[in-house]
Amino acid sequence: MCPILIIGQGLAGTALAWRLHERGVPFVIVDRDEVVTCSKVAAGLITPVTGMRLKVSWRFEVFYPEALRFYRRLGKQLGTRFFFPRGYVRLLKNEQDRQKWPKRLRESEVGPFVHPQAPQLDPAVVTSPHEGFQQRHAAWLDTVTYLEVSRRFFGEAFQIAHIEPGEVQDDAEGVTWNGQRFSHVVWAQGWQAAKHPLLAWVPFQNALGTILIAKADLQGERRILNRGCWLIPRADGTLRAGSTYEWTFPDPPAPSAAMAADLETKLRAFLAVPVEVLDSQSAVRPIIKSRQALLGAHPSHPRVVFFNGLGSKGSLRAPWLAKHLVEHLLGGTPLDPEFDLQANDP
Ligand SMILES: Cc1cc2nc3c(=O)[nH]c(=O)nc-3n(C[C@H](O)[C@H](O)[C@H](O)COP(=O)(O)OP(=O)(O)OC[C@H]3O[C@@H](n4cnc5c(N)ncnc54)[C@H](O)[C@@H]3O)c2cc1C
Repeated sequence: MCPILIIGQGLAGTALAWRLHERGVPFVIVDRDEVVTCSKVAAGLITPVTGMRLKVSWRFEVFYPEALRFYRRLGKQLGTRFFFPRGYVRLLKNEQDRQKWPKRLRESEVGPFVHPQAPQLDPAVVTSPHEGFQQRHAAWLDTVTYLEVSRRFFGEAFQIAHIEPGEVQDDAEGVTWNGQRFSHVVWAQGWQAAKHPLLAWVPFQNALGTILIAKADLQGERRILNRGCWLIPRADGTLRAGSTYEWTFPDPPAPSAAMAADLETKLRAFLAVPVEVLDSQSAVRPIIKSRQALLGAHPSHPRVVFFNGLGSKGSLRAPWLAKHLVEHLLGGTPLDPEFDLQANDP
């Protein structure tokens, strides 16, 4: 069987490689091995009730069970834990929201994701002037460990290289790269795909995101906390806090000092304990305007496939989307029009 060439070992490419492995389909996955990438910087949060308007994340009921099964099974198979279901405390931002919350809880779809017990926070650790609620079914993915152990498992199927679009020749039966023949190439290269000549018509709207790495004595608090910004306590006593969106940024991307300073201000206002900022990291999220993700073959190059636009939900959505793409490539299952690259062809 002719292998599939995957370009990019971020959350998209890695999930796709696993889905091919599950089906016994050979693949080669190539990544240029940058120190900072979107998937390595990501906090890996999986959050059911999100945003300023406290809505249930789009198709959460579809994506979450698949993500849960996928990461748990791989964690067991690889003997490494990288997926952590966690309590998530969302604090309300002002008195107006606190007044509105009971009505929203009664009348909206958020109910199944809200724990009946109030959060019970230690005021010596966290300031919570307007109360809040605890979410069920939240989790975080340690993306660095997941990518690392996956790469090790892939063994010789993983290669380090930077591939330019012109190096991959396609025809009706397959593609050729580096003298080797593949049935398809799947470009899973994150935000860089905005520069791919075959995707010039796709409305990318990438955003630079920044997170803070800090230290604070949270007195044993292990839940994810959110008020103005979120924070994830780590087992080593550090925490990650984030995140931000900047729609214009330099290329190559540089750490954003302004956003790091903004996060630091929010974190210090949120926590009642002293905060020591250790570092900050910035990377670019691949976002496509009005789309939750885009998958599938290019309209006029049937062997050239894309898997992109995971936005700020890569941890949650990559397992389901990768499965969907593989079912399409191997079994001809039609792609959901919500994600079908060709449905976006002008
Ligand atoms: C600050 C921040 C916080 C975030 N927080 C969360 C969160 O809490 N939860 C969540 O689910 N998501 C979060 N995200 C978003 C998440 O990280 C993305 O959805 C996801 O990482 C996108 O994965 P990807 O594989 O599409 O892209 P990438 O991670 O960018 O992976 C692409 C890979 O392809 C490689 N590559 C690119 N071009 C080439 C080439 N020509 N040849 C070879 N290799 C190439 C790159 O080096 C990279 O390794 C966050 C993102 C940021 C920036």
